[in-house]
Amino acid sequence: MTALLEARHVTKRFGGGLFDRTSTVALDDFSMTIAGDAPSITAIVGESGSGKTTLARLLLGVTSPTEGSVLYKGKDLRSLSGDESRGFLNDVQVIFQDPFEVYNPFYRVDHVLTTPIDYMKLAKSNAEKWHLIEQALETVGLRPEETLGRYPHQLSGGQRQRVMVARALILKPRIILADEPVSMIDASLRATVLGSLQRIKEEFGISIIYITHDLTTAYQIGDNIIVLYRGSVAEAGSVDLVVRQPNHPYTRLLVGSIPVPDPDQPWTAEAAPALPNQPRNQTACKFADRCPAAMTKCLQQAPQLYQTDAQRAAACFLYEQAPVLSTEHMDRVFQATIPLTSPVAQA
Ligand code: SF4
Repeated sequence: MTALLEARHVTKRFGGGLFDRTSTVALDDFSMTIAGDAPSITAIVGESGSGKTTLARLLLGVTSPTEGSVLYKGKDLRSLSGDESRGFLNDVQVIFQDPFEVYNPFYRVDHVLTTPIDYMKLAKSNAEKWHLIEQALETVGLRPEETLGRYPHQLSGGQRQRVMVARALILKPRIILADEPVSMIDASLRATVLGSLQRIKEEFGISIIYITHDLTTAYQIGDNIIVLYRGSVAEAGSVDLVVRQPNHPYTRLLVGSIPVPDPDQPWTAEAAPALPNQPRNQTACKFADRCPAAMTKCLQQAPQLYQTDAQRAAACFLYEQAPVLSTEHMDRVFQATIPLTSPVAQA
């Protein structure tokens, strides 16, 4: 079956033009597939500079790959017809990091909810319009009577972000790309937003791509996880396996660095590298500089992705006895959590 959204061998390079010899590879031969018939939550996790923001922009068609392609229903985003573009804009909705930026402080929050309905002509009457809005608000756990008519600053960060989830829901998308949706929200309110995302996956069969720097919330909400390191996949698979029993040395550092008493503290991974100050090829493993398990060969070439379990793959020579998994087939280690039952998924 054709995937709903697919990144196929996508590389994104910045710089390196005619007069610029330096170029930065933000994303390197990345592939992932979001099926339309088995909704799931895929967490994309990485520190700053890992390529996750570039990936979000590529999946939304805001920027184009340097190599490879992003496909919607099997067709390159760059060659969609007018109707196909409208289908894409409807099927793939986004929730941004800072909900406050999306609101106009001079308008009541109703405005962000009525605009897509009016623009997409989703309601035949005013009564139908408000019914749609109230339904969406209730789905994300907000009371319409306590939400509508208010200005953005009169709502909490969690409420504002849940209004954005409701807004996305009104368009009946099949995928929601949530880009750091809870990073600017108080810890006490994060669960409400994450709960809303989980609920809409389960009730409406909407797949979520959850982009975050926070391994803790990725574990809370994800079915599957992709750990990115400097634009490449370090480890991918079932979130339970990857976070509970990490294989890749980088994932191990990340998991080990989560501060247990305060999971909201930013985490960074540091450990003594095994081979400090040794010369390395340009093609060396990207993590070799920081890796406590680095071997001489890691300084010479980059590892492929090895399928270490039925539901997990790691890009590390420690597992080179395992079968190689092409990045194009990475979704084979993902678990699909909902069968074909949702009316949205079947539409
Ligand atoms: Fe470490 Fe080598 Fe594995 Fe890279 S390939 S993560 S350097 S052990």
